[in-house]
Amino acid sequence: PDETEYKLIDINRELDTATRLLSLKRDGNIIIKTNFGPLEKFPALDNQLGQVFLNILLNAKQAIKDEGTITITTKSSEKDITIIISDDGCGIEKKILPSIFDPFFTTKEPGKGTGLGLGICQTIIKKHGGEITVKSETGKGTTFTIRLPFSKMHH
Ligand code: ADP
Ligand code: MG
Repeated sequence: PDETEYKLIDINRELDTATRLLSLKRDGNIIIKTNFGPLEKFPALDNQLGQVFLNILLNAKQAIKDEGTITITTKSSEKDITIIISDDGCGIEKKILPSIFDPFFTTKEPGKGTGLGLGICQTIIKKHGGEITVKSETGKGTTFTIRLPFSKMHH
């Protein structure tokens, strides 16, 4: 039996909270666009998904040098919820793309990044039975897609 505690959470609200914690809407250099679809409440391990959204949005913010746009899209089907976070920041070089989820991998100056963020994100998403994928092009930007299945709910 699965003894893990799941709580029903509103993912759009978690995303909104993360943008507020990072002051993204007040950041004069960043335009934040949200396309929130109607979502059923999702059975989540408490507070962990909020951490995922915070790290991905912080990475997006740090990837934007002068000005840029961060777009957050959510949608759902009967089976799952999809969250897409993209930025038009610096992008990720092809040769390091396979390493970005590795613990301690960082391209940031000492003190700016631990390299733990995306590793933790991936662990949390996997714990929820989901997956996180990335597409990126140097100079164009980066898109993270998270898919979270409802199926755990029935376990
Ligand atoms: P940290 O943010 O501490 O460096 P992360 O695990 O969150 O660690 O990210 C690892 C690396 O992946 C970053 O150092 C950066 O090189 C790259 N990265 C992640 N997200 C983005 C993004 N949105 N744009 C550009 N590079 C990114
Ligand atoms: Mg990070």
